Amino acid sequence: MEFELNETQSMVQRAARDFATRVIRPQAAEIDRSERFPREILAELAGLGLLAVNVPESLGGAGAGAVAYALAMQEISAVCASTAVAMAVTNMVGEVIATFGTDTQKVEHCPRLADGTHTVGAFALSETGAGSDPGGMVTTARDEGDAWVLDGSKQWITSAAYAGVFVVWARTASQAERPGTRGISCFLVPGGTPGLTVGKAEDKMGIRGSNTAPLAFDACRIPKAALLGDLHGGFKIAMMALDGGRIGISSQAIGIARACLEESLSYAKDRRAFDRPIADYQAIQWKLADMKTELDAANLLALRAAWLKERGLPFSREASMAKVFATEAANRIANHAVQIHGGYGYIREFAAERHLRDARVTTIYEGTSEIQRVVIARSLLSG
Ligand SMILES: Cc1cc2nc3c(=O)[nH]c(=O)nc-3n(C[C@H](O)[C@H](O)[C@H](O)COP(=O)(O)OP(=O)(O)OC[C@H]3O[C@@H](n4cnc5c(N)ncnc54)[C@H](O)[C@@H]3O)c2cc1C
Repeated sequence: MEFELNETQSMVQRAARDFATRVIRPQAAEIDRSERFPREILAELAGLGLLAVNVPESLGGAGAGAVAYALAMQEISAVCASTAVAMAVTNMVGEVIATFGTDTQKVEHCPRLADGTHTVGAFALSETGAGSDPGGMVTTARDEGDAWVLDGSKQWITSAAYAGVFVVWARTASQAERPGTRGISCFLVPGGTPGLTVGKAEDKMGIRGSNTAPLAFDACRIPKAALLGDLHGGFKIAMMALDGGRIGISSQAIGIARACLEESLSYAKDRRAFDRPIADYQAIQWKLADMKTELDAANLLALRAAWLKERGLPFSREASMAKVFATEAANRIANHAVQIHGGYGYIREFAAERHLRDARVTTIYEGTSEIQRVVIARSLLSG
């Protein structure tokens, strides 16, 4: 058993931490307050190789592996969860195309996702009536001989207004022909394709610098070569992408939680009540102890899942375990951070309130906590 990072992993972690502290941290509160999409920051992340950490070097990625990706996500999330989610989805899209794409698709999109030419990538699976249950989707892709024609809509699409390429899921067979998830295929749709419209951004509780918007497809024609993977094989692609994505969101939660702990430690040592630093009180100490213990447990779960993925071993259950634990722990930790900060935890002057708002979504997107528990229990019961 090996708990030490290798040279590449340490290097990626250091580069991400340095950039996060130096460049992102001073802007993070303003990005949240003004709901500013961090476009320039993402361009710099591309320059550091952080938009395609686990995409092969031959396709323009950093080829640094799944563990390095998890570490980089933690570092960016610890300062700005809004930037981190755009980074996470772009990495996920790059990996999906690198894994399932034809040579032409890989060469067309992976280097552009990695170097920032695409700005970011987007992942369009959810619909108004189909979130946890993608088999309920109603967006269709019709075969018109020389083209696929998409009709329908998508909901909650991260980075929708800025993405250079969307991975889009649509029905290629009716529910009667191929019920549920068996009639879904996956397509690559460049941003700006005629017939694709990005709707009004959602007004969210947290990750307010992230753009989340619906998509409308109205007779949107894409070439036959835009099919990603096998016809009707889209559900498998979505599930494989989400398994990896869950390591990313675990890492986002871990980053937020680490920031909460660091800020709480420093505040507890400075803040005095009844003539003593509040860190002297056992009530505060126990919170800090619980925060650190849960943080480390979350980290071990997430890095184990990343380690398995990197070695090509099954990691779906472990990714779900990491996600459910890390994201729920991050919510508990962020709540403790607000409590430790007292009244100052409730106002914008300190980051604790932003961390609590940002942590909240992590138990919802890329599969809710309930769905992670379904995945874990199914795998236990089928074993
Ligand atoms: C900020 C944000 C960004 C997002 N980004 C993206 C994106 O980029 N791309 C994308 O495709 N989607 C995205 N999503 C969508 C997200 O993945 C879904 O919101 C999520 O999967 C839940 O789906 P839903 O909202 O339809 O909830 P529902 O599926 O309607 O669930 C409602 C509740 O019922 C529970 N539930 C549902 N089924 C079961 C079950 N079988 N057992 C037990 N409980 C169950 C759920 O856990 C939840 O608590 C994003 C969402 C948000 C909020």
